[in-house]
Amino acid sequence: MIRAIYPGSFDPVTLGHVDIIKRASQTVDELIVGVLNNGAKAPLFSVDERVGMLKEVTADFPKVRVMCFSGLLVDFARQMQANTIVRGLRAISDFEYELQMAQTNRKMNPDVDTMFLATSLEYSYLSSTIVKEVAFFDGDIREFVPEPVILKVQEKVRERKAQ
Ligand code: ADP
Repeated sequence: MIRAIYPGSFDPVTLGHVDIIKRASQTVDELIVGVLNNGAKAPLFSVDERVGMLKEVTADFPKVRVMCFSGLLVDFARQMQANTIVRGLRAISDFEYELQMAQTNRKMNPDVDTMFLATSLEYSYLSSTIVKEVAFFDGDIREFVPEPVILKVQEKVRERKAQ
């Protein structure tokens, strides 16, 4: 039985994330999308908003659950009795950090292994940061995020600009 956690900031969820969720959920028995509640970063969306968007876009994926977590990922994995961590790899630049994280996590919790999925070619350039940058300059983000997320990003950016 493989219960996996796909952790991330998901600020906001992109089509690249959805692609990983879809593909990972086809290989594991259960996939928990773990939304990191990280006080150190200043996210555009609150953790509840990010969880809400992920729940909406994964509603049709039967093996997927969305939850938030704070603190160490390995502790969350232990708490959820998960044995696998899923991460997406876009480019060589992701690799060094991801390898270091995977090895650190394994050192801290030898019961958990990390599984990497290579990004689908059409999303290899895509990141939440790029989506936010494009939206801040009123660019078209329809090709980057799931349909229900488009308006939410545009609204949030408008609010931020008005502050
Ligand atoms: P983090 O802040 O932990 O990097 P992200 O929300 O940016 O969280 O990403 C979560 C995971 O999704 C990471 O493993 C990242 O490599 C992966 N990911 C992000 N964008 C893409 C994409 N376009 N294609 C494949 N994987 C991606």
